[in-house]
Amino acid sequence: MGRLKSVWVYHVDAGSCNGCDIEVLDVLSPYYDIERLGVKVVPTPRHADVLFITGPLTRQTRIALKKAYEAMPPKPRIVVAIGTCASSGGIFYNSYALYNTSPQRGRDRLRSGGPEMIVPIDMYIPGCPPSPEEILYGVAQLLGIKEKKMKGEYWIALPPGEKSGKENEIEFTIPDRPIPVRYWLTLREELRRVVGYYDRDAVLNDFIELVGKAFESDDPRERLHDLVTGYFLKEKDSRVKVAMRFLENEFWRLVDEYREWGEALKRKYPVTAGV
Ligand code: SF4
Repeated sequence: MGRLKSVWVYHVDAGSCNGCDIEVLDVLSPYYDIERLGVKVVPTPRHADVLFITGPLTRQTRIALKKAYEAMPPKPRIVVAIGTCASSGGIFYNSYALYNTSPQRGRDRLRSGGPEMIVPIDMYIPGCPPSPEEILYGVAQLLGIKEKKMKGEYWIALPPGEKSGKENEIEFTIPDRPIPVRYWLTLREELRRVVGYYDRDAVLNDFIELVGKAFESDDPRERLHDLVTGYFLKEKDSRVKVAMRFLENEFWRLVDEYREWGEALKRKYPVTAGV
């Protein structure tokens, strides 16, 4: 992207809580005065060089966003995602209201939501919401009037003992759980529907402990059922009782459904042995 002298911006709220919109308005105020950088907000995408998007991509706003993007002149057509929601779906990532393009719809799909599903994003300004200074810094970079101070880093999940060796990659070890991380994430996600705001990690950790014990026996299915029943009888909170039985059923459903995937993972990460 060459040096831009000034840009005209069109702003689309793709479903934000309005927190980010208020910060965008702040940078327009005389205090921050983004116009001194040559940035002007225009009322139509047809005149815009840059599209500011705030909020995750909801089902209601996706067509309006796509139309706004397509109405922009073809060059430079720069898109800036402002805020965590516009960058990744943020706190709304698993909301039913978000647009989801994945053909693998259904309960096991960890939903995400971000406008990048339908428009290419050139710059992300994360934050919930990002401060006006952060937005100004991003715009200054866009205009080529500020040197980038940060370098990209990537977090790579590796089995214990393995090193990535690449300069900008940071290794982390997958937590040692007796079930694959994918199952754990799906169960955790599903559990929210059952226990609401109850501490679901506590319930899930108890369940995973039982899974670990069950796989020490020759018939883990039968053993897990007995262990869950034992837990069930001791527990007083009915939400936890329902959640435990629910986890048991969901766990075996995942194991059956992803057997092939589970086998491959088991070879790669021995911590998943037994599934
Ligand atoms: S990033 Fe935060 S402030 Fe911005 S839309 Fe999302 S929840 Fe609201």
